[in-house]
Amino acid sequence: MRYFDHNATHPLSATARAAWLDAVERFPANSSSPHRWGARAAAALDEAREKVAGWLGCRPEDVVWTSGATEANNAVIQHLAATTTGAVLISPLEHPSARVAAKRWLSRRLEEIPVSRGGLADGTWVAERLERGDVGAVVIMAANNETGVIQPGIALQGILGPHRALGFCDAAQWIGKMPCNDLAKDILLTACAHKFGGPQGVGFMVCPTSFQPLLVGGPQEDGRRAGTENVAGILAMVAALEERQAVLGDVNRPSPALETRLAWRDRFIADLKDALPGVEIIGEGAGRLWNTVAALMPAAADCRRRWVVKLDKLGFAVSTGSACASGKEQPSHVLAAMGYRTDESDRMLRFSAGWDNREEDWTALLAAIRQAAAELGAV
Ligand code: PLP
Repeated sequence: MRYFDHNATHPLSATARAAWLDAVERFPANSSSPHRWGARAAAALDEAREKVAGWLGCRPEDVVWTSGATEANNAVIQHLAATTTGAVLISPLEHPSARVAAKRWLSRRLEEIPVSRGGLADGTWVAERLERGDVGAVVIMAANNETGVIQPGIALQGILGPHRALGFCDAAQWIGKMPCNDLAKDILLTACAHKFGGPQGVGFMVCPTSFQPLLVGGPQEDGRRAGTENVAGILAMVAALEERQAVLGDVNRPSPALETRLAWRDRFIADLKDALPGVEIIGEGAGRLWNTVAALMPAAADCRRRWVVKLDKLGFAVSTGSACASGKEQPSHVLAAMGYRTDESDRMLRFSAGWDNREEDWTALLAAIRQAAAELGAV
């Protein structure tokens, strides 16, 4: 099977697997325990914390381990609810774990940030709204999981300073795929391991020491996240991220590894549009992740699930959008916010590559799409 669903989960990298096996051998104890084995596990976690802080431009004590981005997003949103007043500006493109949590904890304080047809939350509107005052927080992700469109969330720290508003950026689809130097400077940030080759069920948030915990009932993580840390998972996540960091380069100067992958993606898009002239690439005019292509497939071919099944039979795993929405066939809230009708968003397929995909995988995917299109009567 050639796998093109990495925005849902990137398979475990060999480095992460080795680090996990090593960690379960070396750190068998609870990191909160008072004996030497416990202290050794706690020290390993602190060393990992320092690495993450170094990459993201925050203090090691600001990094808190979680069970993933859903938990971290819930925790941050309820922290915003508990510690800020005034409006909370939120992009309607956020992952449900931030959106639904915001509806639960912030309800009437929410103001939705306008979004373009190209899938970009309007940073200028945010700047103007901040000028008008009474804003407690701004919530914008780093890159959208369905479209790959890069959002102004990573620029939040540049505009919030004078306004005393908190900034929160869900960077689950950014970390481990894109350069992240100083990404977490002065903002709250969340991420998870399984989007870049770490294990599922582990992640982190960058938050202040005054953080209002969501999970209570234990002293772990300085009281900011109760519950025994997943030591092996965390060390495997950090090993995977270290491997990615080594090839990602600088925010202002994308590395050759990224340039090459952007070129593969763009060649695939050009060839796809040649092969199926009815295809529309979502967010094509905007900056997008190197790994993600969201395409509206030609109308003739029935609904997107038939494409997924057909491509699966041809040996390719692709998706209809977000992992949460796929299978349930609910209209994508992301495409709806961008102004797409349900009959249009019903035709969306998402192809998301991973670090191990090569150009020949994109080429083979295109050949399979051509074959599926012919069999589905879409050409
Ligand atoms: N945020 C974004 C942008 C995501 O893409 C995902 C995963 O799909 C999540 C949050 C949830 O992450 P997790 O699976 O670690 O709970």
